[in-house]
Amino acid sequence: MDKYLKNSVLQKLESPELSVRNIELFVKRDDLIHPFVSGNKWRKLKYYIEKAKSQNKNGILTFGGAFSNHLLAVAACTNVLEWKSIGIVRGEELNSDSNSLLKKCNDLGMKLIFLSREEYSLRNDWDFKSEYANKYNEFVLVPEGGAGYEGMIGCQEIVSELETFDHLFLAMGTATTAAGLLLACPENSKIHGVSAIKNFKSAETIQNLYKNSGIEKEFAKELLENFVNHGEAHFGGYAKTTLELLEFISEMKEKFALPLDNIYTGKAFFAMWQELIGNLEYENSRVVYLHTGGVHELG
Ligand SMILES: *Cc1c(COP(=O)(O)O)cnc(C)c1O
Repeated sequence: MDKYLKNSVLQKLESPELSVRNIELFVKRDDLIHPFVSGNKWRKLKYYIEKAKSQNKNGILTFGGAFSNHLLAVAACTNVLEWKSIGIVRGEELNSDSNSLLKKCNDLGMKLIFLSREEYSLRNDWDFKSEYANKYNEFVLVPEGGAGYEGMIGCQEIVSELETFDHLFLAMGTATTAAGLLLACPENSKIHGVSAIKNFKSAETIQNLYKNSGIEKEFAKELLENFVNHGEAHFGGYAKTTLELLEFISEMKEKFALPLDNIYTGKAFFAMWQELIGNLEYENSRVVYLHTGGVHELG
């Protein structure tokens, strides 16, 4: 797999608004790792693939919504590895022609199974998982969004690719990436998570990820001391957008040659920009924006 992937580069953004505040801003371009296995999706899959190999399995079975970047990442990875893949999709009314992402998954050889919302909601239950694990025993099961132990430790590695930083901002969906970064966050640095979902309970979600990975409550609490939640930049909710956001995204593209998507990375960059420009706390600091991907052209 590695030979198809690029190392993620660090891009320095220069602008008068930043230099006047003595802020150094870098973008960790995980979006450039692969055209379809975008950004954090590769980080989260890496150790699930290792797990599959160690169990002599040659397939991945996973879950996602109709526009899931995670499904696409799994389809692209398994295609390269010449493995099989199954995507369990939320919504029985859908089919593999419903949108360009599902089409692409299908073209890459992923077998798509469409479930009603009710059935899909059981996906993390033990009975449901063991039924699928038995039925598809040559497949490793990966939770929706790679939201599990393997996903977290893959994201933890990002920190070791960075020099020191005071603040790191990123977008959150399942918060697995944020949880992984926190595991390796330097003592005096902060991880800032910007939720793409309205009313997202980020600290609780991260705590659950830790709990399910066997991390003690006290340790989890300590880790969360380095976490800052930004819950107000969802622009109406998941996949909702506004003219203000779209204009901001095109402005950033022009200003910094930085592509952002309007579901995750545009919202998180917006929230960060407001903070850096509007809050004195960030003066004289070194800031990293983790670009989690999501800007692929499906054509
Ligand atoms: C999936 C995704 C996220 C969310 O990552 P989590 O680890 O689920 O929080 C963020 N940005 C992009 C572009 C994504 O595709």
